[in-house]
Amino acid sequence: MTDAELARAERLARAERMIRSIPDYPEPGVLFRDITPLLADAAALRTVVEAMIAPFEGRFDVVAGVEARGFLLAGAAAIAAGVGLVPIRKQGKLPRPAAAVSYDLEYGSATIEAHDDMPVGCRVLLLDDVLATGGTLRAAHELVDRLGARVVGTAVLMELEALGGRALVGDVHAVFRVS
Ligand code: AMP
Repeated sequence: MTDAELARAERLARAERMIRSIPDYPEPGVLFRDITPLLADAAALRTVVEAMIAPFEGRFDVVAGVEARGFLLAGAAAIAAGVGLVPIRKQGKLPRPAAAVSYDLEYGSATIEAHDDMPVGCRVLLLDDVLATGGTLRAAHELVDRLGARVVGTAVLMELEALGGRALVGDVHAVFRVS
């Protein structure tokens, strides 16, 4: 490892330690990964955002962030990459959604929507904070497809490997992985 690579690995390890694990939130049995301490630290935020977009550099025209924590990372990523941002929102939050996709949750279902603000063929990098079962990102991918844009990559801050979301979503770049 070069000195620069070592320093980057140390910065990433420091950022990972800032993610708090909260047992039984929002419901019993869930270990919630709280990224707010990391977001509040300028160096950690920059480090993880750069790590999320680095593999896709020069290959996307916009980032699409999934509500709600995906917005926080997507905003920073858009500025870092010099591209625009498309919000993928929960049902009923956008004034004129052009497409909607419903997907199953552990209990019940959810719907996400987006405006038609991307030209056909626009290259999209999909971003979210956590990959769990993969339902959210799979639905987001389908939503982008329906709008005629093209997902060229998917990146998350943290993958919860035990939940197997990768099988549903396909190729995902995860900055941190926990089993
Ligand atoms: P899933 O569709 O199961 O992959 O869930 C992913 C979405 O739910 C992401 O938008 C996350 O913000 C949120 N999420 C799921 N599980 C967790 C968790 N353990 N900690 C924090 N966020 C989670």
